[in-house]
Amino acid sequence: MSIQVRSVDKFYGSQQALRSVSFSIAKGEVVGFLGPNGAGKSTMMKIITCYIPPSAGQVEVCGFDVHKEGLEVRRSIGYLPEHNPLYTDMYVREFLAFAAEMNGIKRPAGRVAEMIERVGLGVEAHKKIEALSKGYRQRVGLAQALIHDPEVLILDEPTSGLDPNQLVGIRSLITELGREKTVMLSTHIMQEVEALCSRTIIINRGSIVADEPTAALKSGRFGQEQVVEIEFSGPVEPQWLMEIEGVIRIESGEQGWKVYARGDRDIRPDLSNLAAARGLTILTLARKEQKLEDVFKELTAYTSRLD
Ligand code: ADP
Ligand code: MG
Repeated sequence: MSIQVRSVDKFYGSQQALRSVSFSIAKGEVVGFLGPNGAGKSTMMKIITCYIPPSAGQVEVCGFDVHKEGLEVRRSIGYLPEHNPLYTDMYVREFLAFAAEMNGIKRPAGRVAEMIERVGLGVEAHKKIEALSKGYRQRVGLAQALIHDPEVLILDEPTSGLDPNQLVGIRSLITELGREKTVMLSTHIMQEVEALCSRTIIINRGSIVADEPTAALKSGRFGQEQVVEIEFSGPVEPQWLMEIEGVIRIESGEQGWKVYARGDRDIRPDLSNLAAARGLTILTLARKEQKLEDVFKELTAYTSRLD
């Protein structure tokens, strides 16, 4: 396992920011850590990267304990903190050389050049960090996180505040990095995990409320609804549709029927059988996957109501 978190609690004074959080991330996975603001994402990431200790529970990174083997943990991790704090009055190369030295890298100049190439800093590399756009600053942050060639990347809201063009660039860079590294990235944006992550862990008010392959979340687990829109060549009795297993509700409109069903069993074959049995033809048929955004809203509804 690259990351193993067991029953972690975190208190800030009397306020509990994490409640018995457990999950593990295997080597090579790209996992999204999704939750609304204040859910506890940054707190969990700071614990994994040894910046703050947990109040209770165990965390291991590449088999090293954050409590007893902090040095090894830090060596195994590249960390891009939230808001990417950089020394803005330094030049890009100067900053990366500094980061390389801090990590005890033998030939820093070569490594810096390699990282500049790797994250696509190219033409911007001679500038001061303060002169860079937010997208390029994120590239500097990623280069810094990668400089010691860690196995695991922890990226805290790596695309927040980027404009759409910068967003595309940074997302494709993260996708590339995900081919080689274990990546855990946090976000409060559903589309982000849809775009980048094969697995999604949803955290809300300090507790894990879902941990699923991103595709499974989308296709309506947790007893949520699927909708099939269907148009038949002739009249259909509502009763015929309601008799299909899982169907909970139907609506008729100008474009035929909307059939709502619980669970993730596909009801389209049943509709096809129904048509055949009644001597009808299906004119149109479409199954709507539940959007991940809806799942997220439902799972974090309590917090959303407080916002
Ligand atoms: P997220 O990154 O998901 O937005 P955080 O981990 O930053 O959430 O915060 C989780 C909760 O812990 C929030 O209620 C936040 O106000 C609180 N918190 C975070 N850092 C501190 C701190 N240093 N002192 C006190 N409370 C904190
Ligand atoms: Mg945060």
